[in-house]
Amino acid sequence: MADVLVVGSIGLDTVETPFGKVREVLGGSASYFALSASYFTKVKMVSIIGSDFPPEHLDRLRSKSIDVSGVEKVESKNFRWHGKYEGRMNSAITIATSLGAFGDFKPKIPESFKKMKYVFLGNSNPNTQKTVLTQMERPNFVLLDTMNLWIENEYDALMDLIKGVHGICVNYEEALELARASNFGSVVSSLKDLGTKVLVIKKAEHGAVIAWGDKTFAIPTYPSIEVKDPTGAGDAFAGGFLGYIAKRESYTLTDLKFALIYGAVMGSITVENFGTKPLEMLNPAEIEKRFSKILEMISL
Ligand code: AMP
Repeated sequence: MADVLVVGSIGLDTVETPFGKVREVLGGSASYFALSASYFTKVKMVSIIGSDFPPEHLDRLRSKSIDVSGVEKVESKNFRWHGKYEGRMNSAITIATSLGAFGDFKPKIPESFKKMKYVFLGNSNPNTQKTVLTQMERPNFVLLDTMNLWIENEYDALMDLIKGVHGICVNYEEALELARASNFGSVVSSLKDLGTKVLVIKKAEHGAVIAWGDKTFAIPTYPSIEVKDPTGAGDAFAGGFLGYIAKRESYTLTDLKFALIYGAVMGSITVENFGTKPLEMLNPAEIEKRFSKILEMISL
């Protein structure tokens, strides 16, 4: 079992959905990823917080054995995100983003983390993500998250970054945009051009697909869940996926298929209530229950 490193945001989120509203709760890509991956292996975090960040939030991460010694605290306001979901809640409408400390984030990987083998690059500017890669010493599997903003505005930097990672985790629209393709078939065939090995595509209520070389594998979404707040589902998915790979220390095709199902399970748990609470309150037996259910759905 190997530890996993996450580099990303720690936010104070205000989120509105048809089911209610929460104010300034623990959020950010690194928080969701870490809480999710902590059910599979030990997690180390590199991030930045402001002086107004409630210390008890860090204690909540520590209580899941998440190593927060790489979280830098600076004399400035914390990163805040205010988002809203409407209708089928498929995508977030950003009402306000206040970058604060995160705007000046220049990830500095502690010496003792540099040899870590499994790394998640949470969504941020690809130039910033690249500085993480250059500090790491021969990682086995680096998983990259990105978004339309960077695909549209930092395409060259993103393409350069992709050459150095092992996997990309994106939603369906981002995958099409990334591959400059109009359908899934051509996304897969342009994989080689992207110079990457593993492509994980999340399709919300329609499941998820993994493509690796000429192999693809698809799974459905876990059924009968009530979606109350989709925030963080993508990062929790990545946490289940990479957490499982780090636990196995292997990514054969079979490992990748299992990892995909664990990713879908962790995403399904996260959306059932607001913020990080569903991940924090989780009974690990629920993970295996949902894994078995998805397996049953794809078996003859
Ligand atoms: P997801 O729903 O998986 O896309 O991730 C949601 C999380 O991303 C929220 O908890 C936000 O705090 C965080 N977030 C929103 N915008 C940004 C941004 N520009 N950079 C980094 N993190 C962000």
